Amino acid sequence: MTDRAAELRAYHEAEVVGCTRCPLHAGRTQVVVGNGDPTAELMLVGEAPGYHEDRLGVPFVGQAGKLLDRLLAGIGLTRADVFVANVLKCRPPGNRDPAPGEIEACESHLFRQISIIRPRLVCTLGNFATKLLSGRPQGISRMHGREIRARIGDLDVVLYPLFHPAAALYTPSMLSLLEEDFARIPTLLAGAAAPAREDPRPAPPSPAAAVASEPALSSGRARPAEAEQLGLF
Ligand code: URA
Repeated sequence: MTDRAAELRAYHEAEVVGCTRCPLHAGRTQVVVGNGDPTAELMLVGEAPGYHEDRLGVPFVGQAGKLLDRLLAGIGLTRADVFVANVLKCRPPGNRDPAPGEIEACESHLFRQISIIRPRLVCTLGNFATKLLSGRPQGISRMHGREIRARIGDLDVVLYPLFHPAAALYTPSMLSLLEEDFARIPTLLAGAAAPAREDPRPAPPSPAAAVASEPALSSGRARPAEAEQLGLF
C-alpha cells in the first residue's frame, strides 16, 4: 500500500465512516467515502450518494454512475485510474439537494481527501461541487467546460467544472455538451502535469476556504449558446 493509500484509509476509518457531524448520519445505511486510486492525478467530485450508493457504499454505481463510466471510457480511462468522491458522504433523504448545513459539516472531509490524494485536475460534477470548490456563486451552466486555477487547502489544482451526468441521462443535447467537455480532460491532464504556476494571493486560512483564481489554460472554443439556455442546474 502506498503512503497515500494508507493515510487515506486511516483518515476514513478515524474520521469519516463513523461521522455524526450532521443529521444525515441517522438515515444512512453507511458512509460513502469515495473510491478509486488514492494517488490519482484526476479526481471527480459529485454531489451526494443516492439510493444505490448508500446500499453498496460506493459512489456513482446507479444510472448516473454507468454514464460516468462510459464518459471515462470515451477518454481511455476507467474508475481505477481516478478517484471519485462526493460533497456529501451520506445520502440525503429522497435524494433531495444537500442543505447548506450538511455541506458545511461535511466539506472538511472532502478537503482532507483532496490534500491526501493531491490530484492535479479536479472535475466537479454539477452545481454543488462546483460552487464549493470554486468558491464562486455562478452555476454550472455558466462554469462548465472552462478550467480555472484553484487553491484547495495547501494544493494548487486545475478545477474543471462539468455538468452532472444525471443531468444528461435523459437529455441528448446535454449529453453532447458533457462528452465535448470530457474530451478535453486528457489535454488538461497533460497541461496540469506541468509545475503549477504560483498563485500570487495568500493561501486561505483553512482548508475549507478554497479560492479560485484566473483561468488556467485557454479552452480554445466558444461557449455554446445552448449551454447558457439550459437552466437545469
Ligand atoms: N450522484 C452523485 O452525485 N454522487 C453519487 O455518488 C451518485 C450519484
